[in-house]
Amino acid sequence: MLLAEQRRLLCEYGRRAAETGLVVGTAGNLSARAGDLVAVTPSGVSLDRLEPEACPVIDVEGHLVDGELQPSSETPMHLAVYTTTDARAVVHTHSIFGTVVATTMTELPPIHYNALLLGGTVRVAEYATFGTPELAANVRAALTDRQAALLANHGGVTVGDDLHKAFEATRLLEWLCEVYVRAKSVGEPRVLTEEQLSAVVRRAFDPPRFPRRED
Ligand SMILES: [Zn+2]
Repeated sequence: MLLAEQRRLLCEYGRRAAETGLVVGTAGNLSARAGDLVAVTPSGVSLDRLEPEACPVIDVEGHLVDGELQPSSETPMHLAVYTTTDARAVVHTHSIFGTVVATTMTELPPIHYNALLLGGTVRVAEYATFGTPELAANVRAALTDRQAALLANHGGVTVGDDLHKAFEATRLLEWLCEVYVRAKSVGEPRVLTEEQLSAVVRRAFDPPRFPRRED
């Protein structure tokens, strides 16, 4: 089977996305690239009951290469990422807190240093109808130098070197959005400054070393 491993992983992470509540029913899609081919979740199939054979394989120009079902309607967005970046996997969901932020804000400011793992401030791509080239272009622009973007009044998208990394980025994006929304209900969240974020980066490259005790 063409792209057998990628199709297996689509099912594994599709199931995990459904089980963890990131995706309800068909409200999300995943893809993984290998060479000039992309395995993508099919249109109209719940991610918790996906089988590898049901996942179509397309080329990066959008031609169907293998599979009976049509690719997800959001495939143009996935292809826009693959044709302009080195990403090997894309995860898109309508997760609750991501969608709340995407519906009310123009960006998610960094109030926790783990936002740096997604590239810092997460942009909200301008609204356009789902599945259109216009939405794909807006998302592509919002992803510049980022591993994540939110889609206005729609949801979120993350990219990675493989499906595991893209999926973990989606979990982190949802966590950051939930922290922001919950913090906002208590008071005005403090946004980390450029200097505070730079200090985090320096610390990450120079972690503390603990010497072994001499007995
Ligand atoms: Zn969507």
